[in-house]
Amino acid sequence: MNVKDAVFYAGVLASEECQCGAEKLKRNALCWRCFNSLPTHMKNDLYQKLGYGFEAAYEAAVAWLN
Ligand SMILES: [Zn+2]
Repeated sequence: MNVKDAVFYAGVLASEECQCGAEKLKRNALCWRCFNSLPTHMKNDLYQKLGYGFEAAYEAAVAWLN
């Protein structure tokens, strides 16, 4: 798995644009629609903190959505 640097993931959380291009809330990894379409275990994984599993969870979620 290609895990990017911490700045990238901090930027994901600070952004108001989801990886799909839709608006999302700051501090959320994804927009409501993307988040809702994930399997339950992937949703749960996204609640992990930066540096404690969020990076891998985000990569898995984006790969799954695309
Ligand atoms: Zn989205």
